[in-house]
Amino acid sequence: MKLPIYMDNQSTTRVDPRVLEAMLPHYREEFGNAASRNHPFGWHAEQAVEDARRKIAFLINAEEPKEVIFTSGATESNNLAIKGIAEKYREKGNHIVTTQIEHKSVLDTCKFLETQGFRITYLTVDREGLIHLDELREAITAETILISIMHANNEIGVLQPVSEIGNIAKERGVFFHSDAAQAVGKIPVDVQRMGIDLASFCAHKIYGPKGIGVLYVRKRNPRVRLAPLIHGGGHEEGLRSGTLNVPAIVGFGKACEIAERELAEESKRILGLRERLRKGILAGLRDVVVNGSLEQRLPGNLNLSFAYVEGESLLSEISEEIAVSSGSACTSATAEPSYVLQALGVREELAHTSVRFGLGRFNTEEEVDYTIKRVAEIVRKLRADSPIYSEHNKKSIAPFPH
Ligand SMILES: *Cc1c(COP(=O)(O)O)cnc(C)c1O
Repeated sequence: MKLPIYMDNQSTTRVDPRVLEAMLPHYREEFGNAASRNHPFGWHAEQAVEDARRKIAFLINAEEPKEVIFTSGATESNNLAIKGIAEKYREKGNHIVTTQIEHKSVLDTCKFLETQGFRITYLTVDREGLIHLDELREAITAETILISIMHANNEIGVLQPVSEIGNIAKERGVFFHSDAAQAVGKIPVDVQRMGIDLASFCAHKIYGPKGIGVLYVRKRNPRVRLAPLIHGGGHEEGLRSGTLNVPAIVGFGKACEIAERELAEESKRILGLRERLRKGILAGLRDVVVNGSLEQRLPGNLNLSFAYVEGESLLSEISEEIAVSSGSACTSATAEPSYVLQALGVREELAHTSVRFGLGRFNTEEEVDYTIKRVAEIVRKLRADSPIYSEHNKKSIAPFPH
């Protein structure tokens, strides 16, 4: 076993060696531009792109490969979906429904649209991190043009009731976009069965390269039309101009092919590791809280708060040997506790001590066991130094019901 251990697979994942192998020829001899129509270099590149598009469409059960639009990542896909719908359907209405716990690329896009005259409803979540479908139903008005609700949350791994949301969207004649960056390739995502009209995801969360993503855009029942963000040349059905990143697209396709084949077995194995980690840590330490539903959750995510330790020191001590994250990687530069945990109603002092463990394809039991041991040692040491903790022990109160 080598240190440091990588246990931050919700931030990004290591490229699978099989993915890298598939990409390399497209940096060497197969370097053509997929839009070149006049020679074999272009034809081969186009063929490789279309192969990848088919594999990606297959993984999410899209009706046709053309519904898969390549972008630079899930951030761009979220922007294209939300701004693209907002601009195209502005005449129809100016209201969008989303949640308080979306990724920043959805929340910041919605905030921008508020400056452009749109009204946004940010649904709350309960203690488990789940939206309530009644609140969603009540939020929809004649002005509503889009529901944008994530599939799996990047901080707490909680899974929203996507199929039910799809049904409601269909009943009310509203488009349903889902940020599925944490879901695709890890749990079954079926855009037909789940009634998803637009879905964002990217390669680097599923053992593919960074800087490549997809927006799935439904073509039939209902047909979704979008205003593009980037103009010039009309690539990707006119929705996203610019020369395609062929090696990255090939890698994305390979990553999806592997996921499709191995998902069932891999998710079981990763869930086993996650449960081993959870039980191991909880068996050795008191006053540890799991943030978010354990049932409706990604197999590889564990988000814990450790009462009576100082968040900063906990993370800095762990991080020397084990790469984990506090809250979301995107906000860990700021000292604010995570907005996701705040939305769950997690108390501030507990939100400050949250640690996200992200287990993935390359983690081993040995790494999990080492992590259990080190986390227990570090937390015990920090608590021993903590005046609040000794007070708590003296009075032997139990301020945390779970
Ligand atoms: C990682 C992530 C994104 C952003 O994807 P990029 O490809 O890095 O831009 C968006 N949403 C969720 C839920 C994510 O986990």
